[in-house]
Amino acid sequence: MRILVSGAGMAGLSAGINLGNAGHDVSIVERAQHLRVNGSPIDIRGESLAVAEQMGILDDIRARQVDMSARTCFIDGDGDRVADLPIAEINDSTGDTEIPREDLAHVLCNALGPSAALTFGESIAELRDDGCGVDVVFTSGARSRYDLVVGADGLHSATRRLVFGPERQYLRHLGFYIALAALPHHHPTGSPNPIYNFPGHMAGVVTYRDVALAVLSFRSPWIDYDYRDLEAQKRILDDEFGRHGRWRVRELLDAARRDPELYFDSVSQIDMPSWHRGRVVLVGDAAHCASPLSGRGTSLAITGTWLLTQALVDNADDLDAAFAQYERDQRPHVAYAQATVGPGGDLLIPATQEAIDARNQGLAHAG
Ligand SMILES: Cc1cc2nc3c(=O)[nH]c(=O)nc-3n(C[C@H](O)[C@H](O)[C@H](O)COP(=O)(O)OP(=O)(O)OC[C@H]3O[C@@H](n4cnc5c(N)ncnc54)[C@H](O)[C@@H]3O)c2cc1C
Repeated sequence: MRILVSGAGMAGLSAGINLGNAGHDVSIVERAQHLRVNGSPIDIRGESLAVAEQMGILDDIRARQVDMSARTCFIDGDGDRVADLPIAEINDSTGDTEIPREDLAHVLCNALGPSAALTFGESIAELRDDGCGVDVVFTSGARSRYDLVVGADGLHSATRRLVFGPERQYLRHLGFYIALAALPHHHPTGSPNPIYNFPGHMAGVVTYRDVALAVLSFRSPWIDYDYRDLEAQKRILDDEFGRHGRWRVRELLDAARRDPELYFDSVSQIDMPSWHRGRVVLVGDAAHCASPLSGRGTSLAITGTWLLTQALVDNADDLDAAFAQYERDQRPHVAYAQATVGPGGDLLIPATQEAIDARNQGLAHAG
């Protein structure tokens, strides 16, 4: 089949590898001008490790893995350590592999076979499914026809909006926002990654190898703004953190202000009754975002695109049957991942000073 994949994140690249290896002619379009490689190290968990092995990328992943366990502590406004983050409480699986997001993007991109072509700076403007194929008009003005369109364009999927309707129908905001920015002048010392809280807010530093990232997160109801507007994202961060002067909050906010690749988004889940309509199917966060609090988004993306590919192989002449099999096989993984976000937000971003103090005292006694 001629297949169009919208988005070259973890789901889109995995789809490109798996569908290409299955003999399909795959075109991937990515809206950004390059692979979006920022973000903190991400987990490859459970069954997705076995899938990565089948995809032939597990050795490359293992060669680039980083150990982030037991490396985070809570500090007070003077930078003094007050408690350690009990990693086991927010990580319920063992045998995980953690890999920098940029490394995984490159591993996946390098594994794309000759039958998968990747185009940057392009995205779907319109699509029309006539039952026998999908006519696509791209934002560049180019047009083409495909047998299948795979929406792998993330939490704010344009494919989902065009085919299934407005995002608000499917998005469940969990009450937090998160920002990640490069911290270029930070020199890792080998000491644990610090997290500082003030009510409803968290500021921290994540280090691995010679890389340092500023992390800013806060509690908030849904904010209405254009999620693609970088300046609006920076203004929101200013409003939340700009008046707080303790620890290194000003420095981290400054890093966010300066980073042209700032990652800022709501912590949300996507919940859809069905991930397919006609000849269009969704994978990864576009279909079933579990949120960064789950630590499973990338695993779901890898497993889901594998299951979709298997379903298309098993039902070569029947797309509806293939999509039904894909959803049946993938939904239990999604239900589990979405249900595991529970305590992470309260632990990392307590709402009040009393809750911050109670957490720190509880952890100090437990330690
Ligand atoms: C820059 C960035 C940093 C991230 N950092 C973290 C992190 O630190 N921790 C964490 O848990 N999760 C993070 N995530 C989310 C995480 O990558 C996903 O939850 C998970 O890997 C599932 O991947 P996905 O491919 O479905 O979605 P994503 O990784 O979000 O990828 C979607 C891709 O589609 C592209 N895209 C969007 N709209 C269009 C369009 N209209 N046309 C074409 N392409 C489009 C995006 O540019 C992106 O490359 C990050 C995502 C991004 C984009």
